[in-house]
Amino acid sequence: MNMSLEEYKPLIDKMQIFERIYDIMRIVDPVEKTVIESEENRFVKSESACFDFWERGQMCQNCISMRAYNEGDIFYKIECKNNQVFMITAVPIMLNERRLVIELIKDASKNMIFGEKISDGEVNTLSMIEFMSQAAVRDSLTGLYNRRYIDERLPVDLRNASLKNEPLSVVFADIDFFKEVNDTYGHPAGDIVLKEFSREVERFVRRDRDWVARFGGEEFFICLPKADLETARKVAERMRAEIEKKEFLIDGNAIKVTCSFGVYGVCGDDGCLTAEGVIRLVDRNLYQAKSLGRNRVE
Ligand code: GH3
Ligand code: MG
Ligand code: MG
Repeated sequence: MNMSLEEYKPLIDKMQIFERIYDIMRIVDPVEKTVIESEENRFVKSESACFDFWERGQMCQNCISMRAYNEGDIFYKIECKNNQVFMITAVPIMLNERRLVIELIKDASKNMIFGEKISDGEVNTLSMIEFMSQAAVRDSLTGLYNRRYIDERLPVDLRNASLKNEPLSVVFADIDFFKEVNDTYGHPAGDIVLKEFSREVERFVRRDRDWVARFGGEEFFICLPKADLETARKVAERMRAEIEKKEFLIDGNAIKVTCSFGVYGVCGDDGCLTAEGVIRLVDRNLYQAKSLGRNRVE
């Protein structure tokens, strides 16, 4: 955050009234992952990233501040750290024409009352919270990340790439003539193809860094941070060749599909490109792959 602490003062003054309700108050920039935090009645700029609070060593997968930032609405979340349960409220605000989010955090470990079904031990509360957090950013059919995750994660990865002057590439995949698969083998078989297709695509990415999302229908979005265009093109080409070879064995049928890929490499000059801009450009390349005959990488 390049603003001085003084510039936050009017906001911080207003936040004082929540002091007795919440244990921690934070002013977060969810794209830059920077944070100003309340600490014994005063606010300080933190040296660490906003997600370091959760001690997971990685950014939150279900970041409600990014959601509040994107959607201009208030969001709530229950989150765990060690054996504590926290309630978080994320409130989007504008300060000096800058979009920020206030996070109000309450340690609810002792004061949270769960409904009977949950508190009588039938459901493990911690695993339920983890499940709900994951469900918000996962596609229920394929288990891949969903469209919402793209909207929340891509701006952050783009910002990181630009700050570190590193390349970042994206791949947009669309299964060819998928409607025919449904028409020939039925919608349930089509669903299984989508699931197995997802596992195939995942095999070609680095789990620690890359991520794969279902953009919608039979369209998939793959983000490859630190990969230049040539690397991404090779990854997409390997996926294309593997899908072309594969037979999806479903109900005694050997179903074959091909897939078209658009690839786009973000480089230093693209520093101010937005997530929507990147999606538009990679979609254009996918469209090109379709018009040039499908089953190809552009
Ligand atoms: P193209 O090569 O131009 O991409 O042709 P296409 O048939 O793949 O494209 P089109 O957009 O015409 O059709 C997409 C099809 O994907 C139609 C829709 O029924 C199917 N589809 C979308 N979501 C699902 C799903 O969740 N399950 C199943 N089984 N089919 C789906
Ligand atoms: Mg499509
Ligand atoms: Mg298609």
